[in-house]
Amino acid sequence: MDNGRYIWCRNCGAIHHVTAFDRYPIYALAGGEAQALPANDWRDFMARHAGHRLEAMTATGNDYLPSGSAFDPMGIAYLEVSNGAETLLLRRNRKRIDEALNYEIVNGRLVQTEESLKSKRKRSAKR
Ligand SMILES: [Zn+2]
Repeated sequence: MDNGRYIWCRNCGAIHHVTAFDRYPIYALAGGEAQALPANDWRDFMARHAGHRLEAMTATGNDYLPSGSAFDPMGIAYLEVSNGAETLLLRRNRKRIDEALNYEIVNGRLVQTEESLKSKRKRSAKR
């Protein structure tokens, strides 16, 4: 589902999540009729950032879900992406349930806190 691929515009600091859905039109209900919108997130992003310095980023697999559930559609998530040399921390959220996920770069790093170590220990003790 999630291929963990992102494009980072170094000029604007914008992040685009590359998804399989990019290739397909978005169907929206307009006036009661389903319409195939010519929207293409990837193409829009590339057009908006034409001539900018774009870098391909890949998820490192490190993430943090404050709500605790990866399946909460409104849940905020923090995930790390890297181009091999640099690592960025992204904050993923959705303002409304019917809106696309939004990604922004935040300052900071994911660190393993005492709390998460404790909860991990607790979990492994149960097994
Ligand atoms: Zn740009």
